[in-house]
Amino acid sequence: MTEKMQYKCVNCGEGAGALFRTYGPSVIKLTKCETCNGIVDKYIEYDPVIVMIDLVLISKEAQRHIIFNTDFKAYWKLLIILMMLETYGVWRNDSLFNIMVNSVCDIQSNSTINSTHIKLPINMTLKNVEPFKSDCLDWAHEEKDGVDLFIWEKDFYIQFLSTFVGILVFIIATHSTMILIKGFSSQFKVSVVVKSFSLANMSLLLTLPMLVWGSGDTEPSTRLVHYSLVFLYMFAVFYNMFSVLYESPRLMTVLVLLASNLLKYMTTFHATPFLRRLIT
Ligand SMILES: [Zn+2]
Repeated sequence: MTEKMQYKCVNCGEGAGALFRTYGPSVIKLTKCETCNGIVDKYIEYDPVIVMIDLVLISKEAQRHIIFNTDFKAYWKLLIILMMLETYGVWRNDSLFNIMVNSVCDIQSNSTINSTHIKLPINMTLKNVEPFKSDCLDWAHEEKDGVDLFIWEKDFYIQFLSTFVGILVFIIATHSTMILIKGFSSQFKVSVVVKSFSLANMSLLLTLPMLVWGSGDTEPSTRLVHYSLVFLYMFAVFYNMFSVLYESPRLMTVLVLLASNLLKYMTTFHATPFLRRLIT
């Protein structure tokens, strides 16, 4: 039997040749996994809503089902929509990233919409440290009130590019480190990696309540708590997704994720002022 192992068992991750077999026009039988003896993919009989709920609950089985066993092609649309949402948050000065930048650069109030400055318990501002100094100034300069709408809009595109670069750095950094750890043993399609990223990145939708209902009166600490919780959830989703995708050791996955997130934030922090100078 030389079947191509194009699917994966959702329970154990072993390869499988088929998800079901047909015995006549209305009879199908779900394939059993040869390794764990479970049903290879129970989700093909489930309602998409149930799959979604299991995804939200960070189920590895549901993640394997979507990544390996479905023909989900619209992931790049999802990626772009989520990138726009992330850009919107940063552009509106309302995200975990902005809280970090404003606190670390000691930007007291640079927005008409909200305040995202947290007083750090110890003096660790970077506004006088050399590689950060000019970029801190650049993040502080934007006072959007009264500014020409065209400039304001252009800033969104610049921010969008910057977010894109950050995400690119994140994907390349995590993927190459994971491949290094695994020792080049497995082949990955780019589409599978981007698909997994988009899927995990959906946790970004949880920032929506704050973006919609948060106002200038919302305390910076409330924002911080909300966005930190979203970040934690997102971290858990990504952690799970990476264990599904790369089957990497736990501690390693956590470390790689932490480092890549930091790298992504640093990239966006430096890229936005750079792009602004480049384009204006
Ligand atoms: Zn199995």
